[in-house]
Order: sequence, then C-alpha cells, then structure tokens
Amino acid sequence: MTESALPPNTYDAEPIPETARAAIDEMLQSGDLFRYTAADASPVALLEREFAQAMGSRYALGVSSCSAALFLSLKALDLPRGARVLIPAFTFAAVPSSVMHADCVPVLCEVADNYRIDLADFEERLDDDISAVIISHMRGHTSDMDAIMALCDARNVPVIEDAAHSLGTTWHGRNIGTIGRIGCFSFQSYKLLNAGEGGIMITDDADLVARAIIMSGAYEHNWAKHLAHGDNALKDAFDRWQNKLPLYNLRLNNLSAAIIRPQLDEIPRRVRDGRAGHDYVASLLEQSPFLTVPAPLVPEERAPDSIQFNLVGMDDAAALAFAEAAAQRGVKVQIFGQSRDNARAFWNWQFIPGDVPELPQTRAMLARACDTRLPARLTRDQQNAIAEAILGAVEDIMGQVPAYGT
Ligand SMILES: *Cc1c(COP(=O)(O)O)cnc(C)c1O
Repeated sequence: MTESALPPNTYDAEPIPETARAAIDEMLQSGDLFRYTAADASPVALLEREFAQAMGSRYALGVSSCSAALFLSLKALDLPRGARVLIPAFTFAAVPSSVMHADCVPVLCEVADNYRIDLADFEERLDDDISAVIISHMRGHTSDMDAIMALCDARNVPVIEDAAHSLGTTWHGRNIGTIGRIGCFSFQSYKLLNAGEGGIMITDDADLVARAIIMSGAYEHNWAKHLAHGDNALKDAFDRWQNKLPLYNLRLNNLSAAIIRPQLDEIPRRVRDGRAGHDYVASLLEQSPFLTVPAPLVPEERAPDSIQFNLVGMDDAAALAFAEAAAQRGVKVQIFGQSRDNARAFWNWQFIPGDVPELPQTRAMLARACDTRLPARLTRDQQNAIAEAILGAVEDIMGQVPAYGT
C-alpha cells in the first residue's frame, strides 16, 4: 500500500444539492414554512409522495425525527398502557425511549456478534406477552426478516422497522422499511439523507397512517391535505378518528423537506459508493487476525455509511489501547461497550424501570464491537488512510503478527 493522505474528517456531511437553494430562497421570500399553509403540494406533502413512491409503499408521513416516527408508530398501533414491546438490546437509546414515551414497557432481546438479533432468544421472548416488536436495523445491519416476520405473523404481533440508518438497504430486493407494518427513517445529519433533523414513516395501512397523521399535529381538517383523490379507506379512517386523538405536534417543516427532496436523487449513488467503500475497507481489515467484519446475510444488500468490526483476541485493556492508538493515528473508533455513557449500550438505558437485564451475549459483543464512520463521499486514498490507521493501531497494541495463511 502506498503512503496515502491523512485520515479525513468523517463527520462532515456532503453539500446540499444546489437545486435545493431555489426552493429555499422562494420560501424565505414568501415565509411559507408551515406544511399546512398551502392548500396542497407543500414541500412536505411532495416529499411524502416522492418518498412513498421511491420506497414502494402506499403512505408516508414526514415528522420531526425518526424518534418521533417510532413513538407515533406505537401510538398508531393503539397499544394499551403497559404493553410489552420487544426490541433488540443493541440499538440507539431512541428506541427504548420511544417505547417509554408511548407508556409501554421495553423488553430487550439478545443480539449476536454479527449485530443481528439472536432468533432463539427473540422467539422465546416473543411468547412472553409481547404486543409489538421494533426491529432496529442497527447501523444498517439487517436481522433475518424472513424468520422475524414468520414468527410475528404467526402470533399476530405487529412489527415496526427502525430503518433510521438503513435507507437504501434491500432484503430479497425489497426496500428495508417496507417489510414490517410500519417503517421509520431519520433525516438527522449522520444518516443517508441529511436535513439536520427530521424523519418519515411509511406504511400501507390507511387506519394506522390516519391515526399517525392526526397525532402528528394535523388538527381540525388539516388531514385533508394528506388525502389522495379517491382514497376512500383513508377518508373513512380520518372520519373515524376525528377529534378522538391527542395531538403531539411532531410535524416536519417545509424547509427541511426542501433540503431533503433533491437528495432523493442522490440515494442510488450514496448507496453504491457507500457499499463499495465499505466492502473495500472491510477486505483490508479482514487481513488482520485481530479484526473480523461480520458478513451480511444472504438476502441482504447493504447501504453502509460506516463500518463495524469486532476485535479478536484482545482483552478490555488491549481494546481500549487499540481505540486510543487509532485516535492517535487520526481515526475515531468507538467501541460501543467501552466508551463511557454510550447511548447504544443497554446498561446505560437506566430510564427503563427495573434492574439492568442480563444479556451476556449482547454485552460481550458490545465489549469488542467497533464503529468507524465511512461516508460514501470518501476517495480511495481516504479509505486507504482509514484502513491503514486502524491496522497500524492494531500493530501498535498487538505487535507485528503475520496474517493467516502466510
Ligand atoms: C439515528 C437513529 C435513530 C434516531 O433518529 P432521530 O431522527 O435522530 O430521532 C433511531 N434508531 C437508529 C437505529 C438510529 O440510527
């Protein structure tokens, strides 16, 4: 490998497409920032139409964040207070938080060292009075959705997909987020589409989306601005729920939608380049006997903008020293279970009532699972620089060890 550039700043976003500017300028002129001012075709309404179409789902609802989408999904399912919601023990704190907000009880299941749900543990817990499931495709890693849907369908348990960080991933060629009853996505800056903040939920279910639309803040008859001509199922659902639901005010504003809409065309490029860059860096890291990059499941086509890998043959001290050495070399590697107060470590979700659950498998995975950002915009030189820094940090700690087979 040749001497390459210094590791890049992987937290910088891509520029917002130039075409967003005209729409934003116009809005700054008119002041028309609220999604329900215009009679129809507000930027938020157009984004919803375009996003639903791109995903192949019937309805989309733009909201203020993916966290809001997850919360509204649970409320739309009309779960009774105290209902038990099964979630993976490896996810972002937003997921158990949304369950708490919905007055439900999070129940955690084990996640394997390939970052995917442990199906035996999932099935066992599913039979323990579970009313709904949130599957979190954490960092875009897809759990076995065939098995999960079969288990949940057999028990009539609704599945919400947290696809916040998974946009562009497919499972058997089908878009992630369209497999469960509801799919939720994020427009926060570290995700594939960047509006700073924002989210969207998709579903084919008229009753669910009508409830979510009203609760998102479509007061009075603002829901009429969501009504596609001739959709009687949706019209009936709005009539059914008029004045019956609390308003949580979780709407998306027009500026955010105008920033997202031109990025929809960028999705295929970001997915393609992100996957190519990830797989290239993965192939370099795999050369070290101290690192493994878990393979995707067979039906899964990933859309990564970061890379996760496990440390092999390192104890806690070596793992921490490795992360420190990588930082010295200019690459931030976060070990989910070693960094203080990490929001993806289940023992830090102390807002869940009761003791921290015993989840030895997930705990062991988190203690060795590393996370490094790898945005799609990186050049080959920058990808090399990141891989060299990580491999160099391994050598700093573990010494020069020949790769397998040499
Ligand atoms: C980012 C993220 C969220 C939260 O998204 P927000 O839009 O910031 O609320 C939830 N789940 C996962 C897996 C995420 O990566």
